[in-house]
Amino acid sequence: MNTIDSHKRRSLLQGAAAVAALSMVGCASVGTGAKPRVVVVGGGWGGLGALRALAASGKVDITMVEPNDGFMSCPLSILYIAGYAPASDFQRSYGVVDALGVRRVKDVVLDIDRAARMVKTASQNIPYDFLVLATGLEYMEETLPGYAAARDQLPVGFRAFEQSAVQRQVATFLEQGGHYVITVPKPPYRCPPAPYERACLIAQRMKEKGTKGKIIVVDANKGPMPPPLAKPMLTAMKEMYGAQIEYINEVDPKSIDAGKKVLSTTKGDVPFHHANIILPMRAPGLIRKAGLGERFAAIELPSFQSKKDKNIFVVGDSQGAPLPKSGHIAFGAGQQAGEQILATLAGKYKEAGLGDEVTLPGAICWGKVSTSLAIMINVTSSVSVGDPPKVKYQVDPAANAASSKGAMDWGRDMWNAMLS
Ligand SMILES: Cc1cc2nc3c(=O)[nH]c(=O)nc-3n(C[C@H](O)[C@H](O)[C@H](O)COP(=O)(O)OP(=O)(O)OC[C@H]3O[C@@H](n4cnc5c(N)ncnc54)[C@H](O)[C@@H]3O)c2cc1C
Repeated sequence: MNTIDSHKRRSLLQGAAAVAALSMVGCASVGTGAKPRVVVVGGGWGGLGALRALAASGKVDITMVEPNDGFMSCPLSILYIAGYAPASDFQRSYGVVDALGVRRVKDVVLDIDRAARMVKTASQNIPYDFLVLATGLEYMEETLPGYAAARDQLPVGFRAFEQSAVQRQVATFLEQGGHYVITVPKPPYRCPPAPYERACLIAQRMKEKGTKGKIIVVDANKGPMPPPLAKPMLTAMKEMYGAQIEYINEVDPKSIDAGKKVLSTTKGDVPFHHANIILPMRAPGLIRKAGLGERFAAIELPSFQSKKDKNIFVVGDSQGAPLPKSGHIAFGAGQQAGEQILATLAGKYKEAGLGDEVTLPGAICWGKVSTSLAIMINVTSSVSVGDPPKVKYQVDPAANAASSKGAMDWGRDMWNAMLS
């Protein structure tokens, strides 16, 4: 055998050995942990941010646990609720998640066993080395006596797929007219401009359809939230929808009687025909059950690591740092958590030191006031390690057409980044 032949043979043998080794890793990675295991709970904005960053590396075995079959965006879905676009415009399949080789478990996580590093669904235990919790929010129903018993008649519609129930309610109101009450809780709640946006787009539809009646916005706050939005939003509501929207500020709902259709408040009774009660919000019970926080998960900034458990990251609206509850921030924090997990595994992660100034994921939120006008809210934030984050708002002085177009472009870009 000449040297060329022996070299070829050696290469072939090495190649065969490598294939055998790779297939062993491939087999081992199916749930047994040859690659480090990352479990992502929640397939919304935060979970998809983490998953995209992790999957791009090919270095970890990823499981996503999510009960829904696909994704639905809350941002911009007011266009569906008010009857201007089909629901499908705001929905995407999880086909890309499957194509990335992520194991997708269509289920709800009921428990986290932190000692055993295991999440538990009704049918299986899923082990992890790192856990990313992106579970969004639940509503604090107990804050409004009378609500829980009438939950089905009073959809909130601030979580994916709940928009359909609100859309049906709004369609009935637009046909029948009457009083449509929208309540606004005190922050922290998901997407502060959203209740006012909802009022404006339904009011636009009332004008177009000639609906008789009014929308009553019952706001627990002094003015539209966040505060820098108050002036342009109040101006839009007054100038564009003075005949359709009545705005009442600094009023707290006390109880609701869905049978008599009366909302009792600190400023008296508000009778209604339909009501969109936007309740105060908190992280889902799973977070409390796992001892990760009270109303929201306690996290470190800038890492989004749980204060209670270094192997757990909490991103998106479940986390309790005083940052806006925005999909844009959720997605960015998810990406950052994914990148940090990869850097940690590669031995390259360098923790920020006390006093270091670190930029946090930014956000753009949109307050649409009509199908063609919107107010942009640009949020940037940073943290000096050890201190609370500094959050800066830059808000359009008035609703405008460029921001309305920007909102749709932003939505498409974000949905593509998540699921294309
Ligand atoms: C009307 C409206 C307009 C908005 N507009 C904007 C905007 O213009 N810009 C912006 O940046 N943000 C906007 N937002 C906010 C944005 O939608 C949220 O901040 C974002 O969805 C938060 O992402 P998340 O991953 O924390 O939660 P979600 O996107 O809600 O995802 C949570 C996921 O976790 C799953 N889940 C929950 N519990 C479990 C469990 N135990 N086991 C398994 N899965 C579980 C849920 O099924 C869900 O899919 C808007 C919100 C609303 C309601």
